[in-house]
Amino acid sequence: MSLCIVANWKLNGSREFNQQWALEFFKHFNGDNFSSLGIAPASVYIDHLQGIFNNRGIKIGAQNIDFLETGARTGEISAPMIKDLGCEFSIIGHSERRILFDETNQIICQKLIQANNCSLIPILCLGESDEENQANNTFNVLEKQIIEALTGITELSSLIIAYEPIWAIGSGKIPNPEEINSVHEMIKDVVQSRFPKIGLKSVLYGGSVNFKNASSLFKQKNIDGALIGGASLDGKEFALIANVFNELKVLK
Ligand code: PEP
Repeated sequence: MSLCIVANWKLNGSREFNQQWALEFFKHFNGDNFSSLGIAPASVYIDHLQGIFNNRGIKIGAQNIDFLETGARTGEISAPMIKDLGCEFSIIGHSERRILFDETNQIICQKLIQANNCSLIPILCLGESDEENQANNTFNVLEKQIIEALTGITELSSLIIAYEPIWAIGSGKIPNPEEINSVHEMIKDVVQSRFPKIGLKSVLYGGSVNFKNASSLFKQKNIDGALIGGASLDGKEFALIANVFNELKVLK
């Protein structure tokens, strides 16, 4: 099964946090489909987390990779390094990276190529701002992000897209689930019609997902899973969200 429920821990965590999180998670998760779950800790803790999960099947990934493989790029981490640590995926083009670190769609395209070269599954994040949403521009903005990020990539064996409206991230606000469903349908249509050689595996939703709203999201046909920030920092809440996912999508 592809990655469906993914934690983005951002700039949080410590060795102690990792241990406690795993204890809480295993106490509350009642499924066995570990390979559909992913965690993206800060890169310095990847190795430590791999040790804690000890081949249980949960995928560990990076929050970002550099667009080059090697070079004079102090502080950066490359796709081959992430692969070398045993990671299976990387988040790419998160809105925080686009906004705070000036990542363009062209740079994101290079990162997708790096991920593909190393057999890392890229989770490409897309999303519109509040103003763009208010102006009913969501579809155009997402279409442009998709086309610019994927143009020039002839083949990509696996791609996951995360639709993350910028205004929904960390705000407690989410679009209504039917709207998200139609945005996901549009994303699938654009990728499949314009880039038929790209293996789009799933479209996740991200932005203020928590245990309370999870079932309204996972009931939607085109919402294939979730990328979760704040709520994923609690091992119990992440497990409960994954349990809801299992009830509505896996065991159905
Ligand atoms: C995110 O930043 O990827 C995210 C979805 O954050 P949150 O769940 O906290 O809104």
